[in-house]
Amino acid sequence: MTDMLTGVRTLQNFIDGAWRDASGAEVLEDRNPATGELLAQVPLSTAADVDAAVAAARRAQAAWRETSPLVRTRAIFALRDALVEHRDELAELVTRDMGKTLPDAAAEVGRGIESVEAACGMPHLLKGETLEGVATGVDVSLIRQPVGVIGAITPFNFPAMIPLWFLPYALACGNAFVLKPSERDPLPSERIVRLVSEIDEIPAGLVALVHGGEAVVNALLDHPGVDAISFVGSAATARHVMSRGAANGKRVQALGGAKNAMVIMPDADPDVMVGGVMGSAFGAAGQRCLAGSIAVLVGTREEQDRARDRLVEAASKLRTGDGMDPATDVCPVVSAQARERLAGEIAAAEADGIRVVLDGRGDPGPGGAFLGPTILDDVPAGHRVLTEELFGPILALVRAPDLAAAVELVNASRYGNASVIFTESGGAAREYRYRVQAGMVGVNVGVAAPIAWFPFSGWKDSIDGDLHANGRDAVEFYTRKKVVTERWA
Ligand code: NAD
Repeated sequence: MTDMLTGVRTLQNFIDGAWRDASGAEVLEDRNPATGELLAQVPLSTAADVDAAVAAARRAQAAWRETSPLVRTRAIFALRDALVEHRDELAELVTRDMGKTLPDAAAEVGRGIESVEAACGMPHLLKGETLEGVATGVDVSLIRQPVGVIGAITPFNFPAMIPLWFLPYALACGNAFVLKPSERDPLPSERIVRLVSEIDEIPAGLVALVHGGEAVVNALLDHPGVDAISFVGSAATARHVMSRGAANGKRVQALGGAKNAMVIMPDADPDVMVGGVMGSAFGAAGQRCLAGSIAVLVGTREEQDRARDRLVEAASKLRTGDGMDPATDVCPVVSAQARERLAGEIAAAEADGIRVVLDGRGDPGPGGAFLGPTILDDVPAGHRVLTEELFGPILALVRAPDLAAAVELVNASRYGNASVIFTESGGAAREYRYRVQAGMVGVNVGVAAPIAWFPFSGWKDSIDGDLHANGRDAVEFYTRKKVVTERWA
């Protein structure tokens, strides 16, 4: 449906193989954060829409689980080809809707495609185990069967990749899939679901898209027809999703927020270190769950200051602007409201006596969402700039005399998503890798995102649940194990 006055369409849900208007009347505006352009109206769907999506998904799943894993995987190969064919278009959509630079968006789409490629190995991954002759004539075998209907709830910061962390694995394992994308940038999800709808092997109803916010999430969490929930978002929402989903007897994986530290040893290669920290702290304007938002400067005061000066010099050269502009290094944050919140955090830190050694609070741009790289020096332990996930291009510097003190500082966090060390010492790297409490670790790599064949997630408050996304964990999450003990005369 297109608004006569604005010319902007209201998005539709995809339910039972057809695009349909949502039943709720309320809509939210989806704007390009760089330009302020209104891209679409996002309907706030209701429990009735979720109910229709789940009922159709259940019907489709009953037949899909009878479909050979080879045929199911063929559908995933077809999805891979469709995504490759449309990768540039998808990347542009990510940039316009979410804001990140075009190369970053292209990398996101590439990562999403890798996840689809990893799921193409499903016939191998689904194979069970057998132990013959456990007693006279008795054999035991383990088989994997699909869980049923999966509800997926995804965040704004990777609007193409994160739905693709879940959809291909869930389908290849024999499940149906109901996606509730972020209401802030749902266009890439809509495009992906359109591509899915064109794949012959995928039956109508098996994949649904329901737009909306909290009400849709809660309807999925409460619906008896939903068997499992894959969630990615902030820690507070992850906790809510886990408790409500688990209370309703569902299997839940809820990947939450992060506060990732980068340890900079005095022997770090300066170019590697500076390049890694710039990409990590300011890439995607710090709106990644793998963003490095704390730099721990290790060494003597002089060595620490030298590292700080290098970082400030490099960050001051980064250009903030529209992600479509090839000259842009730092994209806008997701909305004018997010920019306002972040500027407030910087002002509050300043009022607490923290030195702002690089201040990004310049021109907010036409969409009101530009915020340049900002560096805060000598942030005292326990300050909210160190403990809270700000999710913007704000880097906090802290000091540690040696590696042991740095590890202690890093491990004091309630989060444990990712952590990175820059050093030329194998011994220091090994010690860090061994002691740090994080699910993803980088050594001389700023954004230590595991490739799709490995599980992706953190520890501590960065996850509620135990199975990570991607890799073998995805197969574990989307299947139930059945053990058969047999005796034949
Ligand atoms: P968010 O928690 O605001 O939203 C995530 C999803 O939950 C959205 O679909 C949203 O509609 C829904 N939601 C939000 N509030 C809700 C509520 N009160 N009740 C029910 N549903 C609700 O997260 P976001 O701002 O979209 O995404 C950024 C966050 O995601 C950051 O904290 C980031 O670290 C995290 N993230 C984590 C990972 C990871 O792998 N751990 C990856 C990407 C992003």
